[in-house]
Amino acid sequence: MKPSDALEQHFRIDTIHKKALARLRIETISDLLHHLPSRYEDIADIKSVVGLIKGQDAVVFGQIGGLKSRKAWKTKKPIAEGWIEDGSARIKIMWFNQPYMAKMLVNGTYVKLAGKVTGSKGKLYIANPEIEKLDSLPIDTHDSIFSTTENIEETIYPVYKETKGVTSKWFFHTVQKCFNAGILDNIKDPIPLAILKKYNLPELTTALQWIHIPKKAEHAESARKRFAFEEVFYIQIQKARERNAVNVAVCYQFKTDNKHIKEFTDRFPFKLTKAQQNAISSIISDFNGKHAMSRLLEGDVGSGKTAVAATTAYAVATSRPPEGLQALPESSAKISDVDFGNLQVAYMAPTEILAKQLFESFIEYFYHLPIQIGLITGSGCMKFPSKVADTEPTKISRAQLLKWVKNGEIPILIGTHALIYKSVEFKHLAHIIIDEQHRFGTNQRKALAKKDTRMPHLLSMTATPIPRTLALTVYGDLDITLLDEMPAGRKTVITKLVASNKQNEMYNHISAEIASGRQAYVICPRIEEPDETKANSLRLKSVIAEAKRLKEKIFKNKRIGILHGKMKPAEKDATMKKFENHEIDILVATSVIEVGVNVPNATNIIIEGAERFGLAQLHQLRGRVIRSTHQAYCFVCTESKSDKTRDRLKALTTAKNGFELAEYDLNFRGSGELYGAKQSGLTDLGMEAIKNIKLVEAARTEAQRLVKKDTKLKEHKEIADKVTSIGKSLHME
Ligand code: ADP
Ligand code: MG
Repeated sequence: MKPSDALEQHFRIDTIHKKALARLRIETISDLLHHLPSRYEDIADIKSVVGLIKGQDAVVFGQIGGLKSRKAWKTKKPIAEGWIEDGSARIKIMWFNQPYMAKMLVNGTYVKLAGKVTGSKGKLYIANPEIEKLDSLPIDTHDSIFSTTENIEETIYPVYKETKGVTSKWFFHTVQKCFNAGILDNIKDPIPLAILKKYNLPELTTALQWIHIPKKAEHAESARKRFAFEEVFYIQIQKARERNAVNVAVCYQFKTDNKHIKEFTDRFPFKLTKAQQNAISSIISDFNGKHAMSRLLEGDVGSGKTAVAATTAYAVATSRPPEGLQALPESSAKISDVDFGNLQVAYMAPTEILAKQLFESFIEYFYHLPIQIGLITGSGCMKFPSKVADTEPTKISRAQLLKWVKNGEIPILIGTHALIYKSVEFKHLAHIIIDEQHRFGTNQRKALAKKDTRMPHLLSMTATPIPRTLALTVYGDLDITLLDEMPAGRKTVITKLVASNKQNEMYNHISAEIASGRQAYVICPRIEEPDETKANSLRLKSVIAEAKRLKEKIFKNKRIGILHGKMKPAEKDATMKKFENHEIDILVATSVIEVGVNVPNATNIIIEGAERFGLAQLHQLRGRVIRSTHQAYCFVCTESKSDKTRDRLKALTTAKNGFELAEYDLNFRGSGELYGAKQSGLTDLGMEAIKNIKLVEAARTEAQRLVKKDTKLKEHKEIADKVTSIGKSLHME
């Protein structure tokens, strides 16, 4: 038996089985061994029915039967009853005041049952048990676990993720058969032993045994840690290689002095925050480095990323040849081939609206300078300044714009995806800026970078609040700078927690706001459903229902619009336009409303069912109302009465920024529900790893070290294979 063998070579697998395994993407022995248990049950907690005694809290596995409901003798209260049998004996089960239990369950179902043993000797029963339906019993009833557990070392056994047609038990037995067939003798560990030793992680063969048939809980834990490390390690290897490819490419290296930068930033109508200053210094110093910059600028909406971007664009557009040009890496092109003062910047935004807004901001930033700025989008091109009126932008033809970009006359070109088109050629593209980088794929980023024979400097920007560990992993090829400080004097959004039955005051407030000319968003609760089509219709329904309710009961004379994922892009745009033009007062929407839309007059947001959102996502939603000089309000509505939930939501009123909230999410809610987690393509285990900064850092350090020594992974072929297969499933950018 070899790890690469198809399962069918060794096991009889019928069609139903085969389909089920395909759903879990299990084809080979190796796939099977890497289908890890999702949790463990402790046998010590499990009792045989025959040995049950009065007063015990019992967990029993078995089949249920004899289900019926009736009225109690004297009290006439409804009772549901039945029995459970586990091979050793049968015991009665009773539910008081829950007659529906008999209808919800089916005779013959396998269940895990937990409840208190009550009654008197000979007439024992389990009262009001909790029941978990199972596709099958976890382990055969004749297995040791249902006999006495004394003298047995292994008291925990694995529970695997099942799908229809294949049971946890099947995994348990099949994995054991593989072990018995000596599969472990044919397995080679891709991770160098030295690394495992250093972090005290078990070798692969040990880890496989520990995770599938642990003798102790600590063993399973240790094995999980190893597999988690492994997943992050492979990602980091991939990222380190991407970074390496950038580092060996020739770039534009130039120096900009602080005085020169200050001349530009001193004209801003505000003082830069310390965080902005630091970001600018890092970037300017990267421009003077031997490698092209690869930097991610993370900052909340409104933290002033555009000002940073504009300053770096200025540095590039006004660059002069540095002294001591020879400082380039020892390869082909010489920097003196470049006409300085002809270096160019491409600034890519995900939507036309955003690109236009950036163009307008840049006009303000560069108003006083003889620097031309171009705009290219699907629906047309513009240039600033116009030839005739030098304080105005003007529409120009695409051909004309492209000509000027190609000959270097236009140093700054802002645009949408249209920037990537082949026809767009630069003279010296030295710097790429990408706004809302999560909206673009790595390929689009690379396509833009390929527009010059040298590697342009890359500044990616994002407002997506994800925890640092996740950022270090999915953006492992980038240096990260955090704008963790809001400009001074910025009004914060007044955020209020509102119980769902106490919304009157909130609605009165919104009415008054609308009367004084403001607008509002109402966000409907988050609906998650495995079937995306179903989920979309549910969301649509809730949006329509809420809009109707508000129109009929609360905001009778107001203009209410709706926005949801099922609308066509053109319909969405039309609605957004109407909202922007103040033809709509209240926009009822799902949480999928476009990121980055800018309607400064919308200063109120109501978020219904807030407990269903992560804090970071709530913060993102709240970000929609801070673009105004008017005071903004966010109403966080929840039906939950739990203190824990309310405490969690209260963090919204105390945290400094979205990134802090993302960390809260990671600690409070667990990684599975993390904002952006689903999109990242990490497995559940990988997401667990994200909770452990030490593990992430270790994986990163070791991966970088390994790639430095063996860039092509010639000595680590197994790692190369793994990295290729993981690369296909990882997204996030
Ligand atoms: P982001 O892109 O990070 O969401 P912007 O760059 O669009 O934020 O900035 C939001 C607003 O804040 C803009 O109107 C900008 O002029 C202003 N701004 C930027 N930096 C500062 C600052 N240091 N002090 C005051 N206002 C600032
Ligand atoms: Mg921005």
